[in-house]
This record gives sequence, C-alpha cells and structure tokens, in this order.
Amino acid sequence: MKKVLITGAAGFLGSHLCDRFIAEGYDVIAMDNLLTGSLENIEHLFHLERFTFYHHDVSKFVHVPDELDYILHFASPASPIDYLKMPIQTLKVGSLGTHNLLGLAKVKNARILVASTSEIYGDPTTHPQREDYWGNVNAVGPRGVYDEAKRFQEAITMAYHNFHGLETRIVRIFNTYGARMRLNDGRALPAFMGQALRGEDITVFGDGSQTRSFCFVDDLVEGIYRLLLSDYHLPLNIGNPTEITIKQFAEEIVRLTNTKSKIIYKPLPTDDPKQRCPDISKAYEILGWKPQVERSEGLHRTFTYFCNKIK
Ligand code: UDP
Repeated sequence: MKKVLITGAAGFLGSHLCDRFIAEGYDVIAMDNLLTGSLENIEHLFHLERFTFYHHDVSKFVHVPDELDYILHFASPASPIDYLKMPIQTLKVGSLGTHNLLGLAKVKNARILVASTSEIYGDPTTHPQREDYWGNVNAVGPRGVYDEAKRFQEAITMAYHNFHGLETRIVRIFNTYGARMRLNDGRALPAFMGQALRGEDITVFGDGSQTRSFCFVDDLVEGIYRLLLSDYHLPLNIGNPTEITIKQFAEEIVRLTNTKSKIIYKPLPTDDPKQRCPDISKAYEILGWKPQVERSEGLHRTFTYFCNKIK
C-alpha cells in the first residue's frame, strides 16, 4: 500500500486530493493547522483505517513516524483576503513549511509535489502565460507575501532537486473552483454565489474587464495526479484556458442563480492582475491532460453545493 502525506488537507484543494488518493487505494496522512481549512471537508474520511489526521502547522518541524512514498504540499492561505489578513503565516508556510517538507521528503526518500500558482506570474505582460515566462511581481505590494513565498518555494524545490537529487514536482495552479470553497474567502466565485443566495448586490471590482480562466476542481485534481506520477520535474501549468472577464462571470452567476441581485462596482484591489490565462500545451504534451468539465456544468455543481450548505 503506497502512503501519501497531504498538507493543507482540510482545505479546498487538499480535501479533494485526500478523496482522490483514498479512491486510488493509498494510505493518506492528512495534515492541517486549520487556519483556513475546516475539518468538515474531511470528516467523511475519519472512519477509514487508511486515513490519519495530524493537526499541525508545517512551518514548524514536521515529524511523521511512517514511511512515505509521496508528499503533496498544499498548505497555505490562498485567497487574496486570507493572505492579506495573514501575511506572515503565508510567507512562513511557503518558505519554512516548504523547507521542512523537502527535508522530510529527503529522509523518507519520498517524491514531493509542491503547489505553486499562477500568482508567480504577477500581473503578466505576456498572454497566455507559458511556463517559461518569468513574471511581473510587485514584491512589496499586498499580494507580494503570497507571490514571493510561492516563488521562493519553486526556487528551493528546484535546489533540492538539483543539489540532493530529490524527486520533485511543481504544479502552477490557475484559478480553480468547486465544492468546499469557503463562502467568505473573498474570491470571486464564492463571493458572487453567496451574494446571489443572500439577495445582496454582486460586487464586481474595477470595471470588471480583468480576465480569469476558471478550472473545475475535478479537472485540476486529475492534472495533479498525473503530474505526480509523471517523470517531469519542471514547473507545469494546470488550469482551464477558457478566459472570461469578471463582469461576464458575474453575469453568468446572476443567470445561473436566477437572483434579483444587481451587479455593482467597487474599487479594484491593488495589483489585481488584468489578464490571466494558462497556456496548457505542455501539460497536454507531457500528461495528455486537458480539462473536461465545461464551466456551465462546473458552476451548476458548485452552486448546488452552496445551496445545500446555506440550507
Ligand atoms: N473579484 C470581484 N469581486 C469580488 C471578488 C473578486 O470582482 O467580490 C475579482 C477580483 O478583483 C479579481 C477576480 O475577481 O479580479 C478574481 O478574484 P479572486 O479573488 O477569485 O482570485 P485572484 O485571481 O485575484 O487571485
């Protein structure tokens, strides 16, 4: 039986990864300090013998008694509101946390996959973003704490690969959505769906002309699973390349939810990227992966989750 350690396991992506690895027959050790994660996301796994949970902050020394085959490092505050509220924790989990997990991977002789992000491209000056683009990041702006932590994470992961010969994988995750996002995490999708359900105004920031490309969580998990098992160690974009403006996205959610809420406009947050869209030709070439779930289908499934949650 293969054993995998998943950090950030009680979070949105971490909990879906726990489900996937359990379904694939792995032993899963889940770790989370519950800063932004919730036990609700993984409580359905607690009865399984193959599932263990450790309440731990990976910025501190990480001890796992078991042998490990794989480590997936997904712990971090990840929405702009969260990392603005918790800038130091965000920097620590991306830097000290990653260092601890790389050290653990080395002693366990395990393969480690770290969760990087499209934020390392900053407010990009090329479009769509390919993996060989170096980015346009404001280190000292409000998003710098997340962007630079993730850039350091990539650097130290490559250093462990090159210097220690560690088996490493780096996924660059673009905007992803689905069940178990937090309604109040400030991201566009839960914000809009929450507002629609409560009958409040839908708050579009700026004029809504900034773009994003939203990937359904099941597609993302499939890409990550394939990357882990591949032999590719350079950073790889995983995301959905169907681009949409935030204004169009808000209008789609108004239609989907059948709400009477109106769209209103609020100031654009500092350094909010104007355009974001992954070039996923590498992921297709290396993993044979591309997203399968249409936005209409994914949004419908996510909305059903939020409706049940609010009830
Ligand atoms: N956004 C918005 N209204 C909200 C929340 C977010 O217009 O209530 C915008 C935000 O300014 C950004 C886009 O939606 O341009 C996506 O934001 P999100 O926080 O989901 O992720 P980001 O891609 O910025 O990390």
